[in-house]
Amino acid sequence: MIPAPFQYHKPTSVAEAAELLKKHGSDAKILAGGHSLIPLMKLRLAQPEVIIDIGAIESMSYIQEREEGIAIGGTTHYVDIANSSTVPKALSEAAAQVADVQVRNRGTIGGSLAHSDPAADLPAALVALKGQIITSSTNEHRTLESNEFFQDLFTTALREDEIISEILVPAESEETGSAYVKFGNKASHYAVVGVAASVTLTNGKCIEASIGVTGAGPAAYQASESISELVGSDLGDGAIEKASAKAGEGVDFNDDVHASGEYRAHLVTVFAERAIRLAASRAS
Ligand SMILES: Cc1cc2nc3c(=O)[nH]c(=O)nc-3n(C[C@H](O)[C@H](O)[C@H](O)COP(=O)(O)OP(=O)(O)OC[C@H]3O[C@@H](n4cnc5c(N)ncnc54)[C@H](O)[C@@H]3O)c2cc1C
Repeated sequence: MIPAPFQYHKPTSVAEAAELLKKHGSDAKILAGGHSLIPLMKLRLAQPEVIIDIGAIESMSYIQEREEGIAIGGTTHYVDIANSSTVPKALSEAAAQVADVQVRNRGTIGGSLAHSDPAADLPAALVALKGQIITSSTNEHRTLESNEFFQDLFTTALREDEIISEILVPAESEETGSAYVKFGNKASHYAVVGVAASVTLTNGKCIEASIGVTGAGPAAYQASESISELVGSDLGDGAIEKASAKAGEGVDFNDDVHASGEYRAHLVTVFAERAIRLAASRAS
């Protein structure tokens, strides 16, 4: 349970962290809240020679309302997102359901997205909200769409020399409602299956819908097949049931000690329906 020896750096800016990451390449790992990386290091499943601790970069922790949406700094802790009335409900609800108080006080949004655990909560909310992930390296900033970011088990579109510096989500208008619900593991609270939904209503008709699913397959995904059942409908029972039934279409379901693939497929339908109904009840 003791990690392999490593060099420790504590940069005070994103630029300094990016320089260190460039210098040390694949020998280095970013450390944020440490709630995923440190257990891996203790088990020696990860043995980075260099640790770049971004946890103390004050300028990376914020929630700001901007013209282009709500900007969230890469090291913003779950607790701050959970308590925010500014961020869309699906995201604050997802953050509030992560693990326990200790993890929510230390774990960060950037760490959760970069790690891309198939059972993590925040990726589903980000996908449903069509959020963007802003990365920084020594020579550029990139803006990545959340539905393309989560690629496979613990695999994202993030490059080795990049830091997640910011997350951008659209501000929620009154016509839009969003929600996140999950079937959590009783011990860790990781999502066996979690579903986030966002719907926009105009004159009683759904004009936009988006559904993000986590826990079901190797990575969080957008339930694209469900959306066509919702858009153009009045979000009546028939449309919601059809959309929910399609939320797991084409998914290679995880099958492990926590739940069989068949059970996960069932949970996706049940929790998609709950998420859509809750989101719809919040859209006016
Ligand atoms: C007991 C327990 C229960 C948990 N339950 C849940 C749960 O219910 N739901 C859930 O979603 N999660 C859960 N987690 C995981 C937790 O949310 C972690 O905090 C999260 O996965 C990683 O965030 P972190 O800030 O701790 O990242 P770290 O552990 O510091 O880093 C994780 C990985 O991301 C990389 N990284 C971190 N920040 C950045 C960045 N800004 N840019 C680029 N790369 C970066 C690191 O290099 C590392 O590879 C649980 C963890 C524990 C220990």
